[in-house]
Amino acid sequence: MAGILAAIKLKEAGLADFTVYEKADRLGGTWRENTYPGLSCDVPSHLYCYSFALNPGWSHLYSPGPEIEAYFERVAHDHGVVPHVRFGDEVTACVFVDGRWQLTTAGGVHDEVDVVIAATGVLHHPKYPDIRGLDSFGGAVFHSARWDHGVALDGARVGIIGTGSTAMQIVSAIVDRTGKLSLFQRTAQWVMPAVNPAYTPDEQTAFRQDPLLMEGLRDSVAQLFDHFSDGIVDSRSPEMAMIEKFCLDNLESSVSDPDLRERLRPDYRAACKRLIVSTDFYEAIQKPGAELVTDAIDGVEPGGVRTADGRLHELDVLVLATGFKVDAFVRPITVVGRGSVDLGQVWVDRPEAYLSISVPDFPNFFMLNGPNGPVGNFSLVEVAELQIGYIMQLIDRLRSGGGRQISATADAMARFESARVEAAKNTIWATGCRSWYLDDRGIPAAWPWPFRQFRSEMAEPAWEAYELRD
Ligand code: NAP
Repeated sequence: MAGILAAIKLKEAGLADFTVYEKADRLGGTWRENTYPGLSCDVPSHLYCYSFALNPGWSHLYSPGPEIEAYFERVAHDHGVVPHVRFGDEVTACVFVDGRWQLTTAGGVHDEVDVVIAATGVLHHPKYPDIRGLDSFGGAVFHSARWDHGVALDGARVGIIGTGSTAMQIVSAIVDRTGKLSLFQRTAQWVMPAVNPAYTPDEQTAFRQDPLLMEGLRDSVAQLFDHFSDGIVDSRSPEMAMIEKFCLDNLESSVSDPDLRERLRPDYRAACKRLIVSTDFYEAIQKPGAELVTDAIDGVEPGGVRTADGRLHELDVLVLATGFKVDAFVRPITVVGRGSVDLGQVWVDRPEAYLSISVPDFPNFFMLNGPNGPVGNFSLVEVAELQIGYIMQLIDRLRSGGGRQISATADAMARFESARVEAAKNTIWATGCRSWYLDDRGIPAAWPWPFRQFRSEMAEPAWEAYELRD
């Protein structure tokens, strides 16, 4: 999504001499990698798309994954991105030598470029759980982002480990097909109720005839997300109290069995972990073939999952919906900047970047959806669009001849980082829960200010934060 966007913006700026490196054989990023049943985006589709390529044809308020993937592929084709893409070859190293970046790929290609835009994604590398005996499982076992479509689910006994956004979507999608579905919950989730109406053909025609309707819809959804962002960065905000009430009411009104309701009740603040948005998770987990397992997992055996109470949950299929290695960013690519500084060493404790975009001593190396940017329940498309607008200004500065190397200063980086860490302490993410938002110190690693502040930061670089060199 972000790489296609960067290509389009480079073309628009008249910079036609660029290559998009894509390790797979087709486009699509997260929407290509994830193919699990129920895959969808819980950001409304009219916001989860490029502002310059609104889509009157969205089928639903929250459209399914394959439709989103097709959208990105279509936009890439329509904007002439595809001829720029080198498919099926993975970048392994970017090394800054004599003022230019030398790129090496696994296929042995060596390229030299002036600017690198890393659009390698956040939720990219699957995280496998460290569970005793996992390798000994006798049935099929796979991560949610490596779904094995050759494995039959119909009538099968399926176990799902995890209760993140992914697991919740899978449960709702497969519960009617499986013989038995066991959801292994380590932590209960807050579930925000939602509806997902289909757009009627008349509505789609109206969007086509009057794009202002789509823009209006997009703006109103964006405003709602702005309110949400005001709330999450202040754990004492009325928005947070309201979200908690919505979720609690949802739990109370949707789950009839008091024992199940208590086991589904979270013991931490709503939105501390990423909020689940679901039309039907509570309905799904109450179906006769579904079981919520809250006893801790003791280990996996050939026949299934053994929980701490001694019970063996017999399974044919085990799905690991256990999330991603979220601190990898551009790694495992070796990135070596000015003065032979290795990004792996700079990030040995944790990844950091000035405004999520630039790292001191890595000139002309810019990231889209890099470390410490806005995450949460936002549209990462909107985030990437704001970032590419900013990056294009950095590139313009290079083109205007002020210098040939631009990167954030160490001072700007340090000041940004200390302000960010301080602000992060007030956010809802810091109120006491385990989540992928927290870094190795337990500090939220995301943008800790209102989204509109991100928008204004991205409007124009604060040039004093950058160092230009020949
Ligand atoms: P996740 O939010 O990181 O959730 C991983 C789950 O696995 C958690 O419930 C975790 O339990 C559990 N887990 C991990 N290791 C475990 C172990 N050893 N034993 C038991 N349970 C274990 O991962 P995700 O659901 O794939 O979602 C990741 C992110 O992807 C989301 O937060 C979201 O940003 C994005 N996403 C978005 C959408 C969308 O619609 N926009 C859909 C899917 C995913 P604990 O909670 O106890 O740690």
